[in-house]
Amino acid sequence: MNKIVDVIYERPATCDTRHAWANIPDEPSPQRRAELQDLIRKSLKRHNAVLVSHYYVHPDLQDLAEETGGLVADSLEMARFGKQHPATTLVVAGVRFMGETAKILSNEKTVLMPELEANCSLDLGCPVDAFSAFCDEHPERTVVVYANTSAAVKARSDWVVTSSCAVDIVRHLHEQGKKILWAPDKHLGEYVQAQTGADMVLWRGSCVVHDEFKAFELAEMKRQYPDAKVLVHPESPAEVIAMADAVGSTSGILKAAATLPAKVFIVATDNGMMHKLRHNNPDKIFLEAPTAGRSATCRSCAHCPWMAMNGLENLYAALESGTNRIEVSAQLAERAKVPIQRMLDFTAARAGASGIVPNIGAA
Ligand code: SF4
Repeated sequence: MNKIVDVIYERPATCDTRHAWANIPDEPSPQRRAELQDLIRKSLKRHNAVLVSHYYVHPDLQDLAEETGGLVADSLEMARFGKQHPATTLVVAGVRFMGETAKILSNEKTVLMPELEANCSLDLGCPVDAFSAFCDEHPERTVVVYANTSAAVKARSDWVVTSSCAVDIVRHLHEQGKKILWAPDKHLGEYVQAQTGADMVLWRGSCVVHDEFKAFELAEMKRQYPDAKVLVHPESPAEVIAMADAVGSTSGILKAAATLPAKVFIVATDNGMMHKLRHNNPDKIFLEAPTAGRSATCRSCAHCPWMAMNGLENLYAALESGTNRIEVSAQLAERAKVPIQRMLDFTAARAGASGIVPNIGAA
């Protein structure tokens, strides 16, 4: 495999802000890295385990997942894959709601994560008590929640969606005359509302990474690279989405990069995505969309601090010791599974839906 240069990992000394509170592992030495990769390969086999990694985690964990028969994917595909795979242990390199979703769908399996503190600002910003009170204020509405929520919030919902199927599912509900209560990401909710015309009330959460993309600086960057296409994840602010050539989930962004006729792309999502984008498209150039203003010392630091908590060392430790297990009570899992299964059934029936839309500038 060609050497792939990844954004944050090639300049670890530039910015230490991300280390201020997040428990982010140090990069291992080249020797220890190779040793850990080998140990993990053997340990996965010994424990009848499979590694499932999200596109935003460290490139080493993405490569290892694929190389050992696991998967690197978005949260929808991670859930689907984990459920169908015959392994008795799922190792989820991502954030907590991904591990919980895997456990809800496969309650009989052991689900391990490298770091149990790896969370998500959307999940943290939508506590179940406040969310339930919000639902109680709107009893006539169908409750649709993003996958980035706790098991308890999912259990209180009618539908779970990911960014790759949110528009299709809400459009389907809108066509049935349903009014929607949406949580927790306000930007994605506004985008889905604009795309579908559905009647939606929104919880006002946001992603700490995507919320930071800046439209003014992006316009400047577009002037600098006039032929570049702009790919945007819909958790980004509306004014950034309005400048996109394509809007989509992580899978949608990958598809757009492969199919749009351009050499240079400006990408507004977590820069963990650069690994797969560059690997799949070695002849194309991918640039990070700006998250910082003119006076800032860096142009972009679009990397999720919780995703960054996943590393080779803590993955190996969790696998060997069997600690860092995700537990969801059988009763809660049963309730949370219903809206997740609805999503899986809906998307399976519509297999082939692209998960990406050309931008109409309406969001
Ligand atoms: S990138 Fe944003 S949405 Fe994804 S896990 Fe991190 S905080 Fe949550």
